[in-house]
Amino acid sequence: MTITGQVLKPLVDIGDSPADCWEWRGTINKNTGYGKKTFNGKSLLAHRWMYETIVGPIPEGLVINHKCSNTKCVNPHHLEVVDQAGNCRHGKGTKLSVGEVLEIKAAKTNKKWGDGARLAKKYNVTSALIHDIWNGRAWADV
Ligand SMILES: [Zn+2]
Repeated sequence: MTITGQVLKPLVDIGDSPADCWEWRGTINKNTGYGKKTFNGKSLLAHRWMYETIVGPIPEGLVINHKCSNTKCVNPHHLEVVDQAGNCRHGKGTKLSVGEVLEIKAAKTNKKWGDGARLAKKYNVTSALIHDIWNGRAWADV
């Protein structure tokens, strides 16, 4: 399913850049501060729904952490998958955490020449891996 701005507009306040929070316009749970959405008769957390719609399924047992601390925010760039203890998930022989992979993916939006090498240095991985992430050849499930 391809999500376009038109689909999202009635649901969220989309900012001008990936750095802006996308605030949920639907129901907000007064106790938790999280947005709620009803989908196929089930009540879902709005940020989890958004993450799964745009990024992909959330692995079993893992939770979504708001990096921006704004519980109403459903911007997938501000969400990271963590386990209940907040530990990083490691896999595919890399040293990257899911949060870092999401940051790398977010950086693709406005990437400039040299960003691959810059990110590779920042995260201490090869620039080939950065490009593999951008092209969906690595960490496609994140
Ligand atoms: Zn946010």
